[in-house]
Amino acid sequence: MGEDVETLKRRLPLLDYLRQHNWTARPVGRSEFVGLCPLHQESRPSFYVNARKDVFYCHGCGQGGDLIRFVQLSRHLSFRQSLACLDPQTSPEADSAAVLEQASAFYRQQLDNYPEALSYLNKRGIEDPILIKELEIGYAPGGSLRRHLTAQGYSFDLLRQVGLLNVNGCDAFYQRIVFPLRRGEHIVNLYGRSTGAAFAHHFLPGTKGGLYAWEKVRHCPEVILVEGLFDYTVLRQAGFHNVTCSLGTHLNTDQFLQLCEGPRTVYLTFDVDDNLSGQQAALQLARRLDAKSIVTRRVLLPQGHDPNSFFTEGGDALEFQSLVKVAQP
Ligand SMILES: [Zn+2]
Repeated sequence: MGEDVETLKRRLPLLDYLRQHNWTARPVGRSEFVGLCPLHQESRPSFYVNARKDVFYCHGCGQGGDLIRFVQLSRHLSFRQSLACLDPQTSPEADSAAVLEQASAFYRQQLDNYPEALSYLNKRGIEDPILIKELEIGYAPGGSLRRHLTAQGYSFDLLRQVGLLNVNGCDAFYQRIVFPLRRGEHIVNLYGRSTGAAFAHHFLPGTKGGLYAWEKVRHCPEVILVEGLFDYTVLRQAGFHNVTCSLGTHLNTDQFLQLCEGPRTVYLTFDVDDNLSGQQAALQLARRLDAKSIVTRRVLLPQGHDPNSFFTEGGDALEFQSLVKVAQP
């Protein structure tokens, strides 16, 4: 219950669903596949799946759409019935939480084995070993997780479903600093920050959960909200304990509701980037929170900075505190 369509589709890409139902296809181009249409009788493949867009189209029968549409057509179900019938496809939640726990433990072990990982953390201003341990920060070198977890008896299918392996069966996290995202006891997702040239941010499919480490701050009358985990970590290291992180400037419904749980002041400390996207997001969020009677203040870092760069480029706790003090509605 409660899983929305977008989350469902991220968890269960159309191509995976088709393959689980024995659809065979050959690749055509970078992210397209073609095979026989499961929706009509044919002898020459005309059913195309675009894995990137997560949609299908059949040139034979003219049908097309997303996963839900496919289930509607192939099983003659309504939209709602299709959603319901996709639900049991979830790996039992306990399984995925357990495998994420194991993956996170493995990544934590790797951190000390790869000097490049620690030096990346240091470069980003993160040095406190106690905090690194508390936040369970790990390192995914890439190429060794699959073997480790299958040796522990986790099925390839489960690893694929959870998203730890990509479509080619390779580790999804490659040369990334990894933070587990917990909700209560359970890990709901992993966040991986590339240490190299690869796309910077990567989550596993599915929800990013609520606000980061919300339990620690939910009773604070004043909360500093940042958009990135490296921002979060440097602030914690600088002695700010009333910090939380939304993992991006767009808050999901859970995160928004958490901020609205009780009366408080939220210090929005988003990036001050040249394209203004961080500040625009902060303004929008401030308006939405204001409508819920939550007081907001925008902490204005120097131009071009986020909290992480503010500290790595010489800022200190006192200077940050003074920015918080003069933060404007
Ligand atoms: Zn067709």
